[in-house]
Amino acid sequence: PQAATTAATAPTTNAALYAAARSVIPGGVNSPVRAFGSVGGDPVSMVRAAGPYLTDAEGREYVDLVCSWGPMLLGHNHPAVVDAVHRAVDAGLSFGTSTPDEYRLAELIAGRVPVERVRMVSTGTEATMTAIRLARGATERNLIVKFAGCYHGHSDGLLAAAGSGVATQSLPGSAGVTEAQAAETLVVGYNDRAALEEVFAARGTEIAAVITEAAPCNMGVVTPSDGFNQFLREITQRHGALLIWDEVLTGFRASEAGYWGLSGKHEGWTPDLWTFGKVIGGGMPTAAVAGRAEVMDLLAPLGPVYQAGTLSGNPVAMAAGLATLQNATGGVHDTIARRSQQLEDLLVGALTEAGVDHSIQRAGTLFSVAFGTSERGVHDYADAQAQETFRYAPFFHAMLQHGVYLPPSVFEAWFVSSAHDDAAMDRIAEAVPHAARAAAA
Ligand code: PLP
Repeated sequence: PQAATTAATAPTTNAALYAAARSVIPGGVNSPVRAFGSVGGDPVSMVRAAGPYLTDAEGREYVDLVCSWGPMLLGHNHPAVVDAVHRAVDAGLSFGTSTPDEYRLAELIAGRVPVERVRMVSTGTEATMTAIRLARGATERNLIVKFAGCYHGHSDGLLAAAGSGVATQSLPGSAGVTEAQAAETLVVGYNDRAALEEVFAARGTEIAAVITEAAPCNMGVVTPSDGFNQFLREITQRHGALLIWDEVLTGFRASEAGYWGLSGKHEGWTPDLWTFGKVIGGGMPTAAVAGRAEVMDLLAPLGPVYQAGTLSGNPVAMAAGLATLQNATGGVHDTIARRSQQLEDLLVGALTEAGVDHSIQRAGTLFSVAFGTSERGVHDYADAQAQETFRYAPFFHAMLQHGVYLPPSVFEAWFVSSAHDDAAMDRIAEAVPHAARAAAA
């Protein structure tokens, strides 16, 4: 077969790379948000990363506030992580057997949060999918409750959208999801205790689990109302259902013990099942489902709930995850907290100066900006959708033009790393006023 491109004809600009990608990859991207669909314009192809910076195919450098959607807690190419990966690569890319690092990473996770068993998988999607199968296996019930606007990956049953009745008529959230699959997921509004009480009153004996993001970060950030997560623990326990605590995004980022370290740890409760991803792979594809032994040991080969993966516990991913978590100690989270606060102050100052109504949505050190929301705030998906989304595209593009790479959607959290230093913050400070004025227009 003839190669489509040779070295001499290979595209090198962002626009040419995007055009080439579109001819062979659906939409030119391997994950939809990367297509700039909600902000317009051509996506940027990155070729290199170091510390808080990304460099694109045309040699332009950006301060990165996406951090690969979360994994790069220590910044890009942290020397300890890169060293560990190099050593792992030299030893072999994949063995398809047990390896020493996989139990070390599992132990490290179990040392930070109260879980007794950890099963490694390759993506957050697999982790939540497995958690749901486990919950159904453990309870011998079929229904799952999720919250509108929470994202748990793209397995069929979790791509359900709220229907008209309170959690009785969920609809497929994507073409290709069957009505039967959607019907087994009840979708309720986030922070809505009354709706949850209603759903449990109506169908409590059929509900296997409630799945929640520890703090929602996929409709922009939404702060769990005081005691909401504890209420989830209480209502699930009362009805014999499990609580699946999705920390794929917040895990080991929000604190050394993830978002649970800011909530359940102080309130004295633990979920039944946890899901992790992103940070535990340090930029390599790994994720995990975890929990107490009684539930987790229902997994094959011990129990009747089947789950498997060719590349699960991949040695290179384990090495990256281990080095990342070993270095993700107190100082890292303090730095991220300080930089996040600095960033928030910059945003509030510039947006206020430009007369742009906004609120900064916060959950621990995770945050996002929402426009036209200062009066009501954003407490659920309906609030998130009702904001002035049109202001984000000019804001985003002004930041991009001034060398700052933001999430290409207003419905995403911003990610800061411990590598964001004064120089990176200065560049952001220079860009923000331009973006605020663009958002005002
Ligand atoms: N759960 C949460 C909270 C997430 O934010 C994500 C991805 O962003 C997932 C699950 C799915 O993870 P993955 O993209 O690795 O499949």
